[in-house]
Formats: sequence, C-alpha cells, structure tokens
Amino acid sequence: MNGLDQIINISYIVASIIFIYGLKMLGRQDTARRANMISAVGMLIAIVATLLSKGLSYQWIIVGMVVGSAIGAYAAQTVKMTAMPEMVGLFNGFGGLASLLVGMAEYHLHPHSSVETLVSIYLTVLIGAVTFSGSLIAWGKLSEKLSGKPVLFRGQKQINGALLAGVLAMGVWFTIYPVESYTLFVIAAVLSLILGVLLVIPIGGADMPVVISLLNSYSGLAAAMAGFIIQNNVLIVAGCLVGTSGLILTQIMCKAMNRSLANVLFSGMGATAGAAVAQVKGEAKAMTSNDAFYILEAARSVMFVPGYGMAVAQAQHVVRELGKILEENGAEVTYAVHPVAGRMPGHMNVLLAEADIPYEQLIEMEAANSMMGAVDVAIVIGANDVVNPAAREDKGSPIYGMPIINVDQAKTCFVLKRSMASGFAGIENPLFFCDNTRMLFGDAKTMVQSLVGEFKGS
Ligand code: NDP
Repeated sequence: MNGLDQIINISYIVASIIFIYGLKMLGRQDTARRANMISAVGMLIAIVATLLSKGLSYQWIIVGMVVGSAIGAYAAQTVKMTAMPEMVGLFNGFGGLASLLVGMAEYHLHPHSSVETLVSIYLTVLIGAVTFSGSLIAWGKLSEKLSGKPVLFRGQKQINGALLAGVLAMGVWFTIYPVESYTLFVIAAVLSLILGVLLVIPIGGADMPVVISLLNSYSGLAAAMAGFIIQNNVLIVAGCLVGTSGLILTQIMCKAMNRSLANVLFSGMGATAGAAVAQVKGEAKAMTSNDAFYILEAARSVMFVPGYGMAVAQAQHVVRELGKILEENGAEVTYAVHPVAGRMPGHMNVLLAEADIPYEQLIEMEAANSMMGAVDVAIVIGANDVVNPAAREDKGSPIYGMPIINVDQAKTCFVLKRSMASGFAGIENPLFFCDNTRMLFGDAKTMVQSLVGEFKGS
C-alpha cells in the first residue's frame, strides 16, 4: 500500500468514526442538530479522500456533484416538513439506483471477476433495483400521486415468492457463467424492479413511513454490497450503518404501532378498515374558545398532546405561547409525545424543539399515561389515531392493540381539529363522544391563537 492509499484509508476510518459518533448524537434531541453537521463533515472527509484515488475521470464527477448538489439543496430548502417522509423515500430510491448502476458498471468492466465479486455485483443489482422501484411506489403513495389503498390480488404472495426464487436461481447461473449471462443479468435486473413494485403495492399508505424506513435499510445494504465490489471501506461501513439503523427504526415504529413487520408488509391494512368497527354512540359536544378559557384558567395541570394536525397548521409556536401563559397562571404544563404521532418518527419532537419547548416538559407516552388521571385538561392538538380509545377497547378496530395516549382519562379533554373527519387510519374516534371531551373546531393555530387572545384580554 503506497502513501496515498494509506492517507485515503486513514481518512475513511476517521469518517467512519465520525459517522458513528454522529449517529449516537442523533439519539438525543438537544444534540441532534449538531449531529447532522458533524456527520456531514464525516461525509465531506470521505468524499475528499475518495477524490484523491487514482484513475478517476474528474469531469464527470464534477458534473454529477454540481447537478446533484443543486437538486439536493433546492429540495431541502423547499420541502415542507409534512412532505419529509416522501422526500426521504425518493432519496432512498436514488441510493438504490446508484448501487444498481455501480453493480452494472462493474460487471461491464470486469465480467471475469471472482465468484465473491460476482455474488456482490448480483446482490447489489437485485437489492438496488428492489429499493429503487419500491421507493418510487412508496413516494407515489405518500405524496398521493398514487392511491394509498393496498393493492391486493389472489396469489400475490406466491407470485412474489416465485419471482424472488426465480431471480435468486438466475443469480446462481450468473455466477457460474458470468460472461455468457449478460442477457440473463439484464432480465434479472428488470424482474427485480418488478419485484420492488409488487412488494410495496399491497401496503397501505398509512404504513408507508415504516416501509420507507425498511427501504432505507435496503438502500444501505445495497451500498455496502457496492462497497465490497469497488473495495471502498467507507462505503461498506456507511452502508452497514444505514442498513442497521434503518432496520432498528423499522422495529421501533412497528413496536409503537403494536404490529409485527410481517403484519405491516402483508396484511394490507386499510383495505378493510372500518369493516367490523363498533359503532360510536353519543353526541360530540362543541365548545367556544371563550368557554374553554374559563376551564383552562382554573386548571392546575395541563397536558398538550400534539399530532399531525399541529404540523399541518404549524401551530407549535403559538402552542408554546399558550403553554407559557398557563405556566404563569400557575399550571403545571407538559407535552406528551406519541412515538408515531405525525407522519415520521420524531415528527412532534422536531416541531416542539423548533418552538423551543424545554426538553424537561416533553414526556413520553408511558409517563403521560401514568400521570393522566391527575391531569385537569388534556389538549389534543390535531391528533386523532394516537389518542383513539378504540385502539385500547375495540377488538374489531384496525388499530386495536396500538398503544395510545389515554387523554380520555384526563379530567377534561379538549380536541382541537377542523371537523369530525378521521385521522390517517380512516376510522372513527370514540374520544370525540366522551362525556369529558369538548371539541374546539377550527384550524389548530387559529384556535390556539384565540385561546391566547382570551388570556391576554382577560
Ligand atoms: P392523524 O393522522 O390520526 O390525525 C390528524 C388529525 O389532524 C386529523 O384528524 C385532522 O382532522 C387534523 N388536522 C389536520 N389539519 C389540521 C389543522 N390545520 N388544524 C387542526 N387539525 C387538523 O394524526 P396522529 O398524529 O394522531 O396519528 C398519526 C398516524 O400516522 C397514525 O395512524 C400512525 O400510525 C400513522 N403513522 C405515523 C408514522 C410516524 O412515523 N409518525 C409512521 C407510520 C404511520 P380535521 O381534518 O378534522 O382537521
């Protein structure tokens, strides 16, 4: 190994350490922002080190970097917070496509490679293709360019199984006769693209964030495989980190919904939603902000429970303002965060952190539920599924078993939303009809603003 190779490899080790350190810091809200910056520095080191390698054609690399950076910067600047999961989905897909192209290019350059390299090439193309086409479908479903409904048909699992077995069998042939198998290799790549589509279409739109996290993990695997092909250590390490962290995140999300990964991938949730659901009885009681003000003024303990609607309304700053006013009024104020509230993991934490809500006031679901009986007013801000008591009580409900924040057990519960419309799971919510629930209809931001106005005017 010459001096330059040594410098490159040492840089790769430094970059890998920085990635791991950055990932660790991402686990805490107060260090997450810095973690992103630190990890970006790691990536910069890895890129510069790679550019030092011999035999590169710089003109194409520069074109790629300029075009890619421009698209990335534009997308990052313009994306709405609520559209973040679909953007992540799309970028995952391009990661898969990049690995697929690396595999294809390497085969063209070295069709006589060793068996190990050929296996890596084949797996890179297979996983990269599934990731690419699957991510495009996931992006389409999440952005509502495609119907979010699961597409189910008879014999679906068998067809997918047969397709996968066929592609793997072709892989064995390919590694034995690599030079003669060019057409077969291309057919396998096309079949893998079809497999990606078929694997994602049976999954409902509501489960797409979990699928995106899983595809993220696949894109990491494809990148690690590509790292083996081109013998790039930092690509292997970074790919493995993406692969495992994506898998861990998938597990966390499934656990928070109390569902197995197999259930998410194969049950087609959403196709039959509402079929055997118990009918909700009673009448929802609406209330004005003026009436709500009198109850809040007397409250000693208030818990905010935000959901997707808070993100839509961008109400986090005004919620913080109301929280401060309530504290000054002598109430103990907390913010309860459900792990799958919103449309991506950590969605509420990000918004609440953006509004500078002190970390010690953020509480997790278990802690919130243990103190709920003593809460005077639970204020639900644009949340629906994550506070639906049917998940606890109605065995026929599609979300039965999903842990929820038990706001119905607070002394009084205010629900701020625009209508009686259902949430992402598309099911009715008995919470709205409870005796201790009052509905404050309207846009969450406007409604909280008018509550703030009531306090200021009093
Ligand atoms: P929901 O999607 O269940 O409900 C959101 C509610 O917000 C709607 O009922 C809507 O009612 C209301 N809303 C929308 N816009 C506004 C507005 N401008 N002002 C006031 N209210 C508004 O959200 P939750 O956060 O409770 O639940 C998240 C769902 O997403 C769960 O089903 C979860 O399983 C799913 N999910 C989340 C993932 C994640 O990572 N976070 C991952 C996978 C799935 P209205 O139209 O009447 O205003």
